Amino acid sequence: MIILVINCGSSSIKYQLLDMKNDNDFSLLAKGIVEKIGLPDSNITHKPTGKAKMEKTAPIPDHKVGMKFVLDALVDPEYGVLSSFGDIDAVGHRIVQGADFFSGSVLVDEDVMEKIGFCCDFAPLHNPAHILGIRAMQAVLPSVPQVATFDTAFHQTMEAPAYMYALPYEYYQKYRVRRYGAHGTSHQYVSRRGAEFAGLDLNDSRIITCHIGNGSSVTAVRNGKCVDTSMGFTPLEGMIMGTRCGSIDASIVPYIMRKENLTPEQMTEVMNKKSGFLGLSGKTSDCRDMCDLRAAGDERAKMVLDKLVLDITKLVGGFVAEMGGVDLIIFTAGIAENNAWLRRDVSNNFKYLGVKFDEAFNDTVRGVEAMLTTPDSAVKVALIPTDEELMIARDTMHIALQNK
Ligand code: AMP
Repeated sequence: MIILVINCGSSSIKYQLLDMKNDNDFSLLAKGIVEKIGLPDSNITHKPTGKAKMEKTAPIPDHKVGMKFVLDALVDPEYGVLSSFGDIDAVGHRIVQGADFFSGSVLVDEDVMEKIGFCCDFAPLHNPAHILGIRAMQAVLPSVPQVATFDTAFHQTMEAPAYMYALPYEYYQKYRVRRYGAHGTSHQYVSRRGAEFAGLDLNDSRIITCHIGNGSSVTAVRNGKCVDTSMGFTPLEGMIMGTRCGSIDASIVPYIMRKENLTPEQMTEVMNKKSGFLGLSGKTSDCRDMCDLRAAGDERAKMVLDKLVLDITKLVGGFVAEMGGVDLIIFTAGIAENNAWLRRDVSNNFKYLGVKFDEAFNDTVRGVEAMLTTPDSAVKVALIPTDEELMIARDTMHIALQNK
C-alpha cells in the first residue's frame, strides 16, 4: 500500500512516501520538503530513494500549489517514484492539536475538519496550516482517503489529577483548559519500539520517554499507556527548549507584561520564540552552537546546558515516583540522538536507582538504536531514534484498509 505522509507547517510541507506491506515491512520511496510557501523564493527539495536529489526554486503562493509540487515531484519522469497520482492509496496528515476530541487516528470527514478547526485556538501556529494541507490534498486527490494523526492522542489516557490545572473548574468546562501534551506520536513510537528492543512486555512495563529536540517533552508510560507528560495546554509547558521557556511561575507573565508594556500576543511571542536556549544565552537556539560556545568557555552556555540536564532529571525523577519505579528510560529526537554527553549526564543522575550506564559505548553511538546500560543495570537506558512518519503511515494504512 502506497502511503503519503504529510506534515504541514504554516509555510512548509514535509512529506514521505512509503510502500507499506505491513507494520514492520515497509520501504521509504521518497521524502522531501517544500519551504517558504508564500514567499518569492519558495523551493522544494525532493529526495527519491536510490536516485539523485531534486531541488527547485519557484513561486509557491499557497499550500494547494505546494501539494501540486509534491505530487508532480513524485511522478516526475526523472526524479519520480510513481507512474501516476492514482498509485497513492491513502494520505496521512500529522495534526498537532486534537484536544480531547481524538484518542487515536481517524478518517477525515467534515466533522473531523470542524473539530481540527475548533482546536486552532490551542495551536494557532499549527492547526490552520494542517487544515490548509488537508483541503489542498482533498482538492488534488479527491477520491483518496485522508487520515488525521494527532500529536495529542497518545496522551488522552492521562487521568484527571495529571491533566487538570488547579484553576477554577469552570475554565475547564467553558474553555477546555487542561493538559493535552504533545509529541504523542513520537512518545508512542519510541515506547513501543523501546520495549521491543529491550525485551520488555509493553503491557507490564514502566517506561519514561525523553523527546529532546528543538521542542522537548518527557512522558511517563505505564503498560503502554501515557500516564503523565511534561507539555501542557500548549507545547510551551515543561522543560527548557530551543526558544520556549518551559514552565515558569505564572505570576511572571502579568508582571513582565506590565513592566514592558506588552500585549498578550507579544508576551506569547516572547515565551515561545525568544526564550529557552536563545533567551538565556542571548546567542543561539541551537544545541550544536551551544555546545561549541560551552567548549570555548562561555559560562552562560554552560549554565544553559546544565539547566537542560537539570530539567530533564527533575521530570524523569518525578515520573519515576509517579509510576513507583521505572524499567526503561528512552532518549530520542535531535538533541538526545546526537549528544552523548547529555544522555550520560542525565543517566548518571539515576545511579541511585541502580542505573549502570555504559559511558564508553554511549560515546560511540549517534542516531541509532542502542542499549546504553550494562546487562546488570537495574534500570535500562536506551537510545531509540524517533519515527513519527512511520507511526502515521501505519495508522493510515490500517484506517484506509478498514474503510475500503
Ligand atoms: P529536532 O527538533 O529533533 O530536529 O532537534 C533539533 C536539535 O537537535 C537542535 O538543537 C540541534 O542542534 C540538535 N542536533 C541535531 N543534530 C545534531 C548534531 N549532529 N550534534 C548536536 N546536536 C544536534
